Amino acid sequence: MARARDPIADLRRIAFLLERANEATYRVRAFRSAAKALAGLPAAELTERAGNGTLTELAGLGDVTARCVAESLAGEEPVYLRRLVATEGSDLDAEATALRAALRGDCHTHSDWSDGGSPIEEMALAAVELGHEYLVLTDHSPRLTVARGLTAERLRRQLDHVAQVNAALPEGFRILTGIEVDILADGSLDQDDDLLARLDVVVGSVHSGLKDERSKMTRRMLKAVANPHLDILGHVTGRMVSSRPAGVTGPGDRGHRARTRAESDFDADAVFAACAEHDTAVEINSRPERQDPPKRLIRRALEAGCRFAINTDAHAPGQLDWQRFGCERAALCGVPADRVINTWSAEQLVAWTHNRT
Ligand SMILES: [Zn+2]
Ligand SMILES: [Zn+2]
Repeated sequence: MARARDPIADLRRIAFLLERANEATYRVRAFRSAAKALAGLPAAELTERAGNGTLTELAGLGDVTARCVAESLAGEEPVYLRRLVATEGSDLDAEATALRAALRGDCHTHSDWSDGGSPIEEMALAAVELGHEYLVLTDHSPRLTVARGLTAERLRRQLDHVAQVNAALPEGFRILTGIEVDILADGSLDQDDDLLARLDVVVGSVHSGLKDERSKMTRRMLKAVANPHLDILGHVTGRMVSSRPAGVTGPGDRGHRARTRAESDFDADAVFAACAEHDTAVEINSRPERQDPPKRLIRRALEAGCRFAINTDAHAPGQLDWQRFGCERAALCGVPADRVINTWSAEQLVAWTHNRT
């Protein structure tokens, strides 16, 4: 006879998977109650009841849960659990797909005016082909010299250029103006106030001093979040996770060593509370090497009541299709579409950002 499985663990696993798939509470409760009922029962009684079919006499057990317990004790993975495991991926896929379909634009992208590889026009056309209604152009700010950050003067010229490009783009699509502004060491933003006020969307990110000690980093981020010009807090922790090009396997392949970076240390609950208070959106950055914030922090931001922006941070047209990665992570954390600002139309988005300034 097959070795018995732990029926309580199986019931709890079923409940967990149902919850994760966002199933109705009543469906989940049956399994949680059954697990609780079994916890107080001597093992001998449990085996005896499974043998003579009297499990359902126990308070908290019904036909379905009793069948699961009998299967577990017989050493089989309960059919109910097996089915859930088999379909779990597709459930989540469906949620991520729905979230991706709800997105109408991208709020964090770069062109060859800073460290992107392509002209604004090409980024815009790729966005049109993806079905976007808008693309926010967010090239870097002056202090990020390694990324050819735009001076105030170059940014003004870019605004004129964007107006020209927009005039030639298909109707129903537009490039929104923006910036990825550096959050400086003291928490101030690296661009002139009048320009920040003029832009449609301002993403603010930490790119330097990522190893600031906790209290300093927290103060720095809190100050930036409270700045009415800042609309979206970009790649919140600054981490770089290990990622290697497709097809490359095994650690330490020469030339493909992953560049990793630890998360910045800051009081996440304080920062997310401030984001909720000031209505600053938290970015879910889709770049495979960033995956920032990590899921545990997305969940905390969700609990704090924050809004989100699911962005690609694309530096090339093809990268604009990376939004699905961010959607997968958002779906895993249960982020609903109505908390995501880029499910809005361009008009709604701009009304929101300008209201905040
Ligand atoms: Zn950045
Ligand atoms: Zn960026």
